[in-house]
Amino acid sequence: MFDCIIIGGGPAGLNAALVLGRAKRKVLLLDENKPRNAVTHASHGFLTRDGIEPSAFKEAAYADLRKYPNIEWTQVRVGAMTKEQSGFSVQTEKKETYHARKILLATGLKDHLPDIAGIESFYGSSLFPCPFCDGWELRDRPLVVICEDERVLHSGKLIWNWSKDLVICTNGQRFLTDEQKKPFLANGIEIIEEEITALEGEDGQLQNIRFADGQEINRKGGFVAVDLQQAAAFGKALGCTYNEQGGIKTDPFGRTSVAGVYASGDTTFNGPQQLILAAAEGSKVGAGIVIDLVEEEF
Ligand SMILES: Cc1cc2nc3c(=O)[nH]c(=O)nc-3n(C[C@H](O)[C@H](O)[C@H](O)COP(=O)(O)OP(=O)(O)OC[C@H]3O[C@@H](n4cnc5c(N)ncnc54)[C@H](O)[C@@H]3O)c2cc1C
Repeated sequence: MFDCIIIGGGPAGLNAALVLGRAKRKVLLLDENKPRNAVTHASHGFLTRDGIEPSAFKEAAYADLRKYPNIEWTQVRVGAMTKEQSGFSVQTEKKETYHARKILLATGLKDHLPDIAGIESFYGSSLFPCPFCDGWELRDRPLVVICEDERVLHSGKLIWNWSKDLVICTNGQRFLTDEQKKPFLANGIEIIEEEITALEGEDGQLQNIRFADGQEINRKGGFVAVDLQQAAAFGKALGCTYNEQGGIKTDPFGRTSVAGVYASGDTTFNGPQQLILAAAEGSKVGAGIVIDLVEEEF
């Protein structure tokens, strides 16, 4: 019986494992190793790790965990979990079953891109979801903001911070009123509401965008509004409450509405999605789990 099984080995799960391990707890980390940022070549904004390759970040994290023999991990997809009288059982897709007193869900989110042919080949190379993560690398270039809904009222303005040469594309959606367009046009931001028919470029580098009405524009990168969905449905299956954003609702120590089940990282939708914030949540939930275990044992 493990003290805690962690599902998901992104920064949230890995940092929780470190804190639990350093508290002498018997920990099992089960990770399929398909993190959100796998498509990128470099991660930014994490102090001491700025610009690191996602795979190198993970290697450094596992080098830290290796110091603690009470932490085990394996690369596997978890298929199901069930609540038992004295804890939880977790079944992997390799048909192994593990038991633990506590469960930490750190399974992250998945990005669903707008339905534009070929967009995947630029996502993570020259089209990104977040300017705080990749805005510096694209600064002052001719950029595009692809957004099909009212989130553009916020993101179009924000991304203007990194480049004044900006075109907003709504990919055929005509929801912006003349009043809403005014401040963008006044700041020199073009708005194209035609459907995008092609994104063109080489080796992930966006160069050209074609539209249904025949026009084309030259852009050197940009940002795209994605739909974020839970990567796993374990929270629902276990009966956890969700917040308005669709994240698993937790208290500041990562406790969910179900006793013994904790959540951390992107899966909680607790504000911006960034590596350092996921790691920080992992650290807090690790402490929360130790506190609860001690309360039960003392
Ligand atoms: C293109 C892109 C670029 C980004 N760039 C940056 C950046 O530069 N800086 C930054 O701070 N943030 C960046 N981010 C955001 C960052 O990737 C996330 O905020 C961060 O990865 C969240 O960490 P997490 O631990 O919550 O989840 P993740 O890192 O997504 O890890 C979740 C893990 O859980 C695993 N998992 C899910 N379901 C199961 C299952 N059933 N069984 C076993 N394992 C499972 C997944 O395979 C994955 O390994 C970027 C995101 C994207 C999409």
